[in-house]
Amino acid sequence: MEEFLRNGRARHDRFSQINSVILHPCASCVAGENPPLMSVNVTFDELGEVLQAHETFAVISHVRPDGDAIGSILALGHALEGIGKKVRYLNQDGCPESLKFLPGSEKVEVTAEAKDVQVEVAICLDTAARGRVGDDSLKVVEATAKVINIDHHVSNPGYGDFNYVDDSYPATGQIVYDILRHLDLPISEISRDSIYVATSTDTGSFQYPSTTQATYEMAADLVSRGLNVGEINSLTYDNNPYRKVELMRALLNTLEMAPNGKVAWWHLTNETKDALELIDDDSEGMIDIIRGIEGVIVAVFFEELNGGKIRVSMRSKEKRINCSEICGRFGGGGHALAAGIRMAGPLSDAQAKVLAEIDSEISKLS
Ligand code: 5GP
Ligand code: MN
Repeated sequence: MEEFLRNGRARHDRFSQINSVILHPCASCVAGENPPLMSVNVTFDELGEVLQAHETFAVISHVRPDGDAIGSILALGHALEGIGKKVRYLNQDGCPESLKFLPGSEKVEVTAEAKDVQVEVAICLDTAARGRVGDDSLKVVEATAKVINIDHHVSNPGYGDFNYVDDSYPATGQIVYDILRHLDLPISEISRDSIYVATSTDTGSFQYPSTTQATYEMAADLVSRGLNVGEINSLTYDNNPYRKVELMRALLNTLEMAPNGKVAWWHLTNETKDALELIDDDSEGMIDIIRGIEGVIVAVFFEELNGGKIRVSMRSKEKRINCSEICGRFGGGGHALAAGIRMAGPLSDAQAKVLAEIDSEISKLS
């Protein structure tokens, strides 16, 4: 572990060149094991030099943030504050109610309401594409001289001036942990708890196949640093508002299954959202219920958004069905086993188009 931390973690370290276009002959990429990134990763040391050389930072994550998005900005931001840097914590939609138990979460500002954000460096975390930070956050990113992009999404094209993208990590929070350890940055209680929640929520409570030995070792280390496992898991998972259970009932009423039993989907209309007075965050994680059905390979959640677009959330249990690739056909992205799209409506059209692509992939399996 120590050896690994000393040497840094980048798959492409030995080819590392700041902000250069990919030209390298990395064997695993040539073999097609990992899709090549558009830009080469910096090393943790190079990242450390950029962090040391500047005083003011904005840590930013994707719209409709999940635990990894909020946890990662809190963890890295607080470590930077710990070495005397000035940090703004920005998110287009702010911190969701369900994550406000995280210490330090009160620092997260809704970008549109954040005054006088002038920083030397913008750090985008857990954000697969630049535009995924949202319109107001994008203005901040565009007005900032240096952009660091730290992420674990396979579809991330490497849009930063300095990129650290590694899809072998199950969560951006775990990348942040390795960065803090490698650079000997302080892991405060805020960073400790945030890293844990970031990783726990992105791994389905340390269950998904993306969870590695290093993930459990990290969790053990966080516990040794005083993390209260029972309390933090209870705050993360046993605190659902009642309307979330009502949402589950409404979704179950729309559940459909493909005749072969391999695809399950449900949908949420604006009408239901209004009737139940739902907030965006309420549907987070719900898809795991239909993903968990025996025999189901792909689960899909279709949601009407204000303005007519449809949000698609997709999960796969089979490596040969690549959600990121299927979602990419509609302008979305994410990970091989969990990805999403924002696409044109109406709901019935989006549903028909996406299900047809999934069906065609499933039929190639046998
Ligand atoms: P979720 O289904 O939980 O919203 O997202 C699953 C994964 O796909 C997350 O890692 C998320 O960042 C990514 N994702 C979700 N929606 C989109 C999208 O519209 N575009 C892209 N590029 N990625 C998305
Ligand atoms: Mn993530």
